[in-house]
Amino acid sequence: MISFPVYLVGARGCGKTTVGKLLAEQLDYKFCDTDQQLQANLNQSIADIVAKEGWDYFRQQEHQTLVNASSESTVIATGGGIILREDNCQHMRHTGKIIWLDVDHHVLVERLTADPEASLRPSLTGRPITEEIFDILQQRNPLYHQVAHYRINANQSPERAVIDILTLLSREALTS
Ligand code: ADP
Ligand code: MG
Repeated sequence: MISFPVYLVGARGCGKTTVGKLLAEQLDYKFCDTDQQLQANLNQSIADIVAKEGWDYFRQQEHQTLVNASSESTVIATGGGIILREDNCQHMRHTGKIIWLDVDHHVLVERLTADPEASLRPSLTGRPITEEIFDILQQRNPLYHQVAHYRINANQSPERAVIDILTLLSREALTS
């Protein structure tokens, strides 16, 4: 049907990893998660990488991981801050289709407080995660909106989100 890479973008906790794995299964695509890949490459958690080497180093490594992951027939779950670098945005726009998993603030707070892995992720501001989410969404939603080819309602179940994405991609296949 299609073979270009599909990039999932959105805030931490919007479901990029969860939805990405399901979507890859449905499309019979490979799956890559840039956060997981980066941690495996450096054999450290993101929190440790950021604490030891700083955010600039992390963003540089993340960029390289994104570029390396971008092969045909792959669903790529990105990190929430991938859109902060213009070169990442350009790369994703030029090589594939970008889907924004858009989720409401209160849904995100519920998910992240229930998710044990959230504590392994570095705080972006040093404040409690629930407090910083609102500001991060305010800052980043315009960037997700700008870069994405499509926006999906990610307040719904992962299965519903996957159905919506498959519908968009099948339309894409008809017109390309
Ligand atoms: P991301 O990769 O965007 O940071 P994850 O896929 O890791 O997000 O999901 C974060 C948490 O929210 C996980 O505990 C996951 O099980 C849960 N989750 C993800 N998508 C949904 C959804 N659509 N509905 C309910 N919970 C979800
Ligand atoms: Mg993830």
